Amino acid sequence: MIERIQENTMGTLGSVPTGMSGMGAASYVVSDGSTIRGMSCVLSPRGHDNVVVGLGSMVEVSGGQWEVIGTEKTNGEPGFVTLQLRSRAADIADVAPSSELDFHYSTACPQCGARGGWTGEIEKELDEPVLRMHCLSCGNEFVWYSGVLAPMLKSNPPEFMPGRLSLEERQVILEEEVSKYLRKGFRVVSNTESTAKLTLRKKFSFTWAAGGFLFLGIGLLVYLIWWRFSEDRIVYLRVAPEGGISPTATRFDFSE
Ligand SMILES: [Zn+2]
Repeated sequence: MIERIQENTMGTLGSVPTGMSGMGAASYVVSDGSTIRGMSCVLSPRGHDNVVVGLGSMVEVSGGQWEVIGTEKTNGEPGFVTLQLRSRAADIADVAPSSELDFHYSTACPQCGARGGWTGEIEKELDEPVLRMHCLSCGNEFVWYSGVLAPMLKSNPPEFMPGRLSLEERQVILEEEVSKYLRKGFRVVSNTESTAKLTLRKKFSFTWAAGGFLFLGIGLLVYLIWWRFSEDRIVYLRVAPEGGISPTATRFDFSE
């Protein structure tokens, strides 16, 4: 959405009546926080403080972020300021929740730096495939070109899995679960980014052995036979794309 407001008149920024006046050279703050000097004007959005803006300034009005994209001023005539809506509180409210984005493909939002997730759409820019991304933090939509992903996007487009977490997030979940098993005495046999195999070595119980020996020796023999054929405990952990984790199998493994 783009709004143009004439000097000394009321325009609107979205639905907010906004006056503009006082065009002239002055210092103003641009979106990166630095102050520069140039053509400026005073914006008076209803219900907000007046603010001095110029090309590159960002103004927040009722939750919307407006960027000044143009100023026009000829001496003796009323000037104009042009603003473009960069994000909207309303957009943020009806932004897809993370369950509608696939964070397996994620990259930093160029507007706010938060992580954006894939919307499932693949577009073309300059004949190169790009992923349409959405930032949950600021509502920004942007396209992401990745030289690493490009060949794969061309030949074998990935499956869109809404709600999928990034690989790093899944690794963190896996590591937390693995550490619980390590505290119980398990050790890791093998692992991938989203799975782990752990074992708990069988232990010889002297209590049971001694108890069995006292039972006419037969108990000891039974225990020794049981122990000989009992196996290590094996636990397979797998992190689901959505982040759920469970031991997918807890069984005796005869391969070791
Ligand atoms: Zn953002």
